[in-house]
Amino acid sequence: MAASSKETLVIIGSGPAGWSAATYAARAQLKPLVYEGAITEKNRMSGTLPLGQLALTSEVENYAGFPHGNLGAFLDSALPAARRQMMAPHAGEGVTGPELMELMRQQAVNMGTRIITDDILKVDFSQRPFKLFPSEGGVVEAACVIVATGASANWLGLPSEEKYKNRGVSACAVCDGALPRFRNQPIVVVGGGDSAVEEATYLAKFASTVHLVHRRDALRASKIMAQRAHDDPKIRIHFNSGLAEVLGDDAKGVTGVRLQSTVDASTEVLEAAGVFLAIGHTPNTGFLDGQLELTPKKYIVWKKHFRTDTTVEGVFAAGDVADDYYRQAISAAGTGCMSALDAERWLAAQGTH
Ligand code: NAP
Repeated sequence: MAASSKETLVIIGSGPAGWSAATYAARAQLKPLVYEGAITEKNRMSGTLPLGQLALTSEVENYAGFPHGNLGAFLDSALPAARRQMMAPHAGEGVTGPELMELMRQQAVNMGTRIITDDILKVDFSQRPFKLFPSEGGVVEAACVIVATGASANWLGLPSEEKYKNRGVSACAVCDGALPRFRNQPIVVVGGGDSAVEEATYLAKFASTVHLVHRRDALRASKIMAQRAHDDPKIRIHFNSGLAEVLGDDAKGVTGVRLQSTVDASTEVLEAAGVFLAIGHTPNTGFLDGQLELTPKKYIVWKKHFRTDTTVEGVFAAGDVADDYYRQAISAAGTGCMSALDAERWLAAQGTH
């Protein structure tokens, strides 16, 4: 269905930044419209489905206000039955990423946020009102825009990685790790940051062994996470090592990997049923087509100190799409709140609100 409308505030993106911005904006009676992203196979593969990166993680231990506890009854009471039924049952521990995102989405809805489950493919910020072009067609005019499109997982770019995507190669352990093909099998995780350790620890529940492959001689992950990897008897860390090739065949998909040392010419072949990439993220700014100033790493530039203004007046940015430093759920939610307040003040100054 082609969407054409005139809006005061459109928020593009549906992670913690987008929903926090929506909650604040709706409470300020700005009637925000959120484009939460489309549910497509392409978005699944690129990690840009609705609810963002947090929906691809397991337990969230460090989001303020959600200590360990049985949140099952709360989830049942807070969420509409139809969406609750689509979610995994609550495990009886702390809140999970998907649960937290559903709660944030619901809070924004409760305040009056409207949601369209589609992607914005293109924008025109050259004149006001701004124009946004959804994938389903039509054009949405907006007096003010908040870009909160986050970042998505990186791939190494090996031909063999591409060949076995969906057949044992993945960038999301939580999405794919429990598949039968990985049960009691050796699995490889590539990366040395918090994501790699989180994925390795999660996969260790299903796998016989998890080979954590990192190109340096020490993990980049935080101390507490790194210790978990070192302490887990199922995780074997391969330092100074890179993934050179994913091995497999047409019948079985992934059957192993060839590792290449980063300090000498040695190589090693490991048997593996799966390969999980956890090598960082790239901000989702391609659709902006150069209309906002970006950093060399393609993150949106915040133009003013401690404000979420971009280089186009009336366009604000929040969350990981503009933050390559903190990149936490709670800091994304924080800048989401800031962007809504910035938007509200800017609209008031324009006499629009
Ligand atoms: P990250 O911290 O940027 O780590 C990426 C890792 O991938 C690094 O170890 C990096 O190696 C490696 N890498 C990058 N490109 C590579 C390549 N081409 N080949 C091989 N290895 C490559 O990313 P992240 O782990 O996704 O974490 C992102 C942010 O989210 C961080 O701020 C992190 O703290 C946060 N996070 C937090 C939690 C948590 O607290 N529970 C969980 C997940 C993520 P080098 O070390 O050599 O650079």
